[in-house]
Amino acid sequence: MDNVLEICPVCHQTVKEEYFFCPNCGHNLKEAVLPISVGKQIGLYALAVILPPWGFYPGVKYMLKNNPHAKRVGLITVLLTTLSMALMLWLIFKEMNIYLEQFSALSL
Ligand SMILES: [Zn+2]
Repeated sequence: MDNVLEICPVCHQTVKEEYFFCPNCGHNLKEAVLPISVGKQIGLYALAVILPPWGFYPGVKYMLKNNPHAKRVGLITVLLTTLSMALMLWLIFKEMNIYLEQFSALSL
């Protein structure tokens, strides 16, 4: 049995990873025990893909949470946002290059 130990953020006592409350001070160690609903996850990922810069804020917010599930959702949101932004920038630059080439061909 491997006990992963964590530190209680309130009293700094070591607690087992699976504990929901700190046995020393009673602090709730899994603040958001409720998993993020599938609908909310889809909404987040859609936001990240369709409106890239706006995916960062909720993504980072979830990554800072104590709960590993929220962390993973946050990480995926941030990754999707980054990918989507890179793709969008690449497309914009590609389009701009086409226009610039046409423009310089015209003004010869
Ligand atoms: Zn504690």
